[in-house]
Amino acid sequence: MSKSTEVLIVGGGIAGCATAYYLAKQGISSMIVESHGIGSKASGKSAGMLSPVHGAKEPGTIDEISLESFNLHQVLADELIEETGIDFSPRFPNQLQIAIDLKGMDEIRFLQSLYEKADDRFESHFFEYEELNLIQPGLTPKTLGGLLLKGNTSVNSELLTQALAKGAELKGSEVVNSTVTGINKVGQKIESVQVGNEKIFCDLIVLAMGPWTLFAQEWFEFRIPMSPLKGEILRVSLPNSENLLSHEIYTDKISIYPRTDGLVWIGATEQEKGFDESISEDSRKYLLNTAKEVFPEVQNASVDVHTACLRPIISDYLPLVDAIPSLQNAFIVTGGAKKGILLAPAMGKAISDMISNNGQTDITIKNYGFSRF
Ligand SMILES: Cc1cc2nc3c(=O)[nH]c(=O)nc-3n(C[C@H](O)[C@H](O)[C@H](O)COP(=O)(O)OP(=O)(O)OC[C@H]3O[C@@H](n4cnc5c(N)ncnc54)[C@H](O)[C@@H]3O)c2cc1C
Repeated sequence: MSKSTEVLIVGGGIAGCATAYYLAKQGISSMIVESHGIGSKASGKSAGMLSPVHGAKEPGTIDEISLESFNLHQVLADELIEETGIDFSPRFPNQLQIAIDLKGMDEIRFLQSLYEKADDRFESHFFEYEELNLIQPGLTPKTLGGLLLKGNTSVNSELLTQALAKGAELKGSEVVNSTVTGINKVGQKIESVQVGNEKIFCDLIVLAMGPWTLFAQEWFEFRIPMSPLKGEILRVSLPNSENLLSHEIYTDKISIYPRTDGLVWIGATEQEKGFDESISEDSRKYLLNTAKEVFPEVQNASVDVHTACLRPIISDYLPLVDAIPSLQNAFIVTGGAKKGILLAPAMGKAISDMISNNGQTDITIKNYGFSRF
C-alpha cells in the first residue's frame, strides 16, 4: 500500500526537524524523509554556537530573526530535553575573542560596537594581553588584546537535531530513511514525491534539503543562487585541557573550544569545493598550525575526529523561508549558511506558522523570500 502524510518534509537536518517539531506542536503530523540519517550532515557536525549578535555577511541583515531564534532556543533548552530525554547540552560558555594582528584588532573594535548596541543580556569587555593572560593563561604573547564575551550560548547540534525529530515523533510524526528522487504534480499542486519506484502522497511538501536544494531545482521552476561552503573541524585530545582551557578562544581565523564530549574542537575551514565532503590533510595542517599560533599548547594535541560538511549558502548569506512560487502546496526552508543552527527554530516555526495559519507568521521573515532573486 502507498504511504501518505499530511506534510512531507524532504531533509532531516535541523531545518527540517525544527519544522516537523513546530508543526507537531500545532497538531500537524509530518513525515521527514532523510537519506543519510537525522542530523548526519552539517546539522550534526557544526560547532553549535548560538551567537545572535554576530551577524550574517552584511551586518544587520539577520538581527531580528537571530534574536527571535535565540529566544526560541532558550525555550527548547527548557522544554525539549524534558520532552525527549535527549540532553543536547545547552550552556553559556566563557568566550574570548582575541587579536594577534592589526586586522584582528579591527575585528574586535567592530564586534565591540555590535555588543554595545545589543540588549543587556550580551556584554563585551576589552582587556590588554597581560590581563587576558590572567583570565585565560597560555595565550600567545603576540596577543594584542581581546574581548571577554558574555551572553552567547552553545549546543550539541547533532543531539539538538535528533531531539527535534524525536519531539515531533512523540507527537505522531514519522521519520523515513529514503532519498526523494522527484515530485509528481497535478496542476499547480504536488500530489506525491518519488522515492525510487515508490510514491509517497502528501497534502503539502516542505523542502529542507540544505545545499542539496540545488538538485531540487530540476523538479521545480525556480533558480536559487546557492552553493555549498565546505567546513572542516578537528576534535582533539589535549592533555589536561579541563585545567588549561577555561575559555573558548576565537580569532578572525580560528576557533578553539572545549566541548562536553571532553575534546577540544578546532575549526573551521571555509572552502568552495562543490559537493566534496571529504576531509583533507591540508585542512588538518592549516587548523592545527593556525590554532598553535594562538594557543601554543595545541602542539600537544592529538586529533581524535576530523569532520567535513557543507553549509547551505545563498549568495546574500540570508535564509530562504517561503512558499514556492507557482505551486499551491510547497514550501522551502534553507540558507541557514554559517548560522543555520542558531536560525533553525525561527525558520522552522515560521514555516509551521505559515502552514497552519494561512501564510502568516510573527517571525521576521519578510526579507527572506523568493522575491529577492
Ligand atoms: C564547519 C561548520 C560549522 C558550523 N558552525 C555553526 C555554528 O556554530 N552555529 C550555527 O548556527 N551554524 C553553524 N553552522 C551552519 C549549520 O550547520 C548549517 O547552516 C545547518 O546545519 C544547515 O541545516 P539544514 O537542515 O538546512 O541542512 P543540512 O544539515 O545539510 O540537512 C539537509 C538534509 O537533507 C538531506 N537531503 C538532501 N537531499 C535529500 C533528498 N533528496 N532526500 C532525502 N534527504 C535529502 C541531507 O541528507 C541532509 O541531512 C556550521 C556549519 C559548518 C559546516
